[in-house]
Amino acid sequence: TLTVVGSINIDHVIRLAQFPRPGETLTGSDYQIVPGGKGANQAVAAARAGAQTHFIACVGDDALAKTLVEGFVADGIDTQAIESISGVNTGVALIQVNNEGENTISLAAGANARLTPEQLQRHSGGLACEQLLLQLEIPLETNIAAAAQAKAQGARVVLNPAPAQTLPDTLLSLVDMITPNETEAERLTGIRVKDDAAAAQAAAALHAKGINTVIITLGARGVWLSEQGKPGQLIAGFKVNAIDTTAAGDTFNGALLAALQQQQPLMAAVRFAQAAAALSVTRHGAQTSIPYLADIQALLDA
Ligand code: ADP
Repeated sequence: TLTVVGSINIDHVIRLAQFPRPGETLTGSDYQIVPGGKGANQAVAAARAGAQTHFIACVGDDALAKTLVEGFVADGIDTQAIESISGVNTGVALIQVNNEGENTISLAAGANARLTPEQLQRHSGGLACEQLLLQLEIPLETNIAAAAQAKAQGARVVLNPAPAQTLPDTLLSLVDMITPNETEAERLTGIRVKDDAAAAQAAAALHAKGINTVIITLGARGVWLSEQGKPGQLIAGFKVNAIDTTAAGDTFNGALLAALQQQQPLMAAVRFAQAAAALSVTRHGAQTSIPYLADIQALLDA
């Protein structure tokens, strides 16, 4: 099985011609409430791509939490390890999108900050998995504890190091595969990923931390794939008409692990994940944009 430990957010999205400046009030054209959060998006992407998926997470005691969890159940996700924390909100993201498709995001972590190593202990069966998928919207100590326990039981530990932050070697040394975007790769290595040579350097710096597989996602360009001891390579993405890149990285990660869970070779799994992510950028929103297996297969076969 595949286990995701991570965040759940409710995204409140307003589209505006331009961002308001401090003290200014602007009226937007469109408002939507969309399920989001990197952990949730990646769990949903994995499940829709066909993987049996366990999700360890926290929601608050607000009304929307129930709807969110029902959504995960509808996608076939095992939600037994999602705990409801009283007295806090479910994670919230306030997202403004301008006419250029750029966004600004304010987060209130709420229940995500309450996902503790003790909760992992209560659901330790979930960490006896083949693959563990982590991101950085929950406490670092929880990620370290999850990685250590899963790895000790033979799991492949995969870290999507998003949002960008520097990380201690105590976490990086437990990671088998890491999937930063360009910003995150730069934050972790100090190397600006401006071309293939720089991508190779950044990958080498991450290999030096003991990470076997490095996949740097490069937006519309595709990914830089590097395995320890082998030359890295650029794998081009799919050409699509992008309208909203929210959750592209999350879709990539969830679909990648779903493909690996089905024993696909790494290259094929990356292709599969890129197809899924390409579909997600042709649709609006976070979880609303994440494709199902049949759509991914159709793009791969086209
Ligand atoms: P993040 O969303 O985390 O910043 P990226 O922007 O690198 O991550 O996107 C992740 C993956 O999604 C890319 O490696 C690529 O496969 C796919 N993708 C992103 N943007 C596009 C696009 N405009 N067209 C096609 N594929 C895309």
